[in-house]
Amino acid sequence: MSPDTPIAFAGAPIDLAENQRTTEELTAFTKDKRAKAIVLNEGKILVGEDGKLIDLHPTALIGKNIYDPGPLFLGLDVDIPLFAFSLAAPEEADLFGDRVSFQSLRKLASMLGSHDLSLAGRAKSLFDWHRAHKFCAMCGKESKPKSGGVSRRCPNCSTDHFPRVNPVAIMLVINGDKCLLGRSAAWPEGAFSALAGFVSAGETIEEACQREVFEEVGIKVTKPVYKFCQPWPYPSQLMMGMYCFTDETEMTIDTKEIAEARWFTKETIKGVFDGANTDFVCPPDFTIAHQLMKEWVNS
Ligand SMILES: [Zn+2]
Repeated sequence: MSPDTPIAFAGAPIDLAENQRTTEELTAFTKDKRAKAIVLNEGKILVGEDGKLIDLHPTALIGKNIYDPGPLFLGLDVDIPLFAFSLAAPEEADLFGDRVSFQSLRKLASMLGSHDLSLAGRAKSLFDWHRAHKFCAMCGKESKPKSGGVSRRCPNCSTDHFPRVNPVAIMLVINGDKCLLGRSAAWPEGAFSALAGFVSAGETIEEACQREVFEEVGIKVTKPVYKFCQPWPYPSQLMMGMYCFTDETEMTIDTKEIAEARWFTKETIKGVFDGANTDFVCPPDFTIAHQLMKEWVNS
């Protein structure tokens, strides 16, 4: 099931071209006149003054100081090869003109179109993974990027390492016409969102949902229902959106996990969406929490 509006960071019509990643094939893609490359630096994305992605031909980046894993082959957009490069130093972007800048993906999330946002999110997640997994987890030797950056291989023990995606359950706790939202201690006063937590080893997402709600607010929920999910490139989570239900209202809040939690009526949330009230600060519309709330208030 999908929400009414597209899920941010998902939906790019990219063919990963997993069977076309030999050195020869990647070289040919790089030389393709139509090939495009987006540019990053430490997770930030190179954009123009209009806030749109700058795409260059990959050969324009030859000779620049490129961070491991080198050119990252994102795949084919229909038949156009798409690459991403991570510059080791932001100053190198000056070579592309003074009207470009590196911007955080959080800032760009509400500015880029769905196609570009998906590409930028995928590139950021993969570069973050390469940066954090430079050394083999089996033997400790430095591993090398493989097949255009879709994996790494250890030259010492031949172990292949693949990009990791971390599953997270994110849920609306529903009691009649009210739902429960929480505020993390790191968030500003008045900002509330859906509860969430990482799925543990040996758990289903339904079990993770029930456990997290009980741990954070002391409420027992039933009937967890999966709704839809979102890739979340900070650095690489798969947020699995759920609804769950309870008759309970009294909370026991674990203040190590969240600062506060409150029940909100559909009316209140609708009012915040419409701008009719400012009872709380809602998560932005590119988040799955926003989409879960929107679908629920419109149901
Ligand atoms: Zn190894």
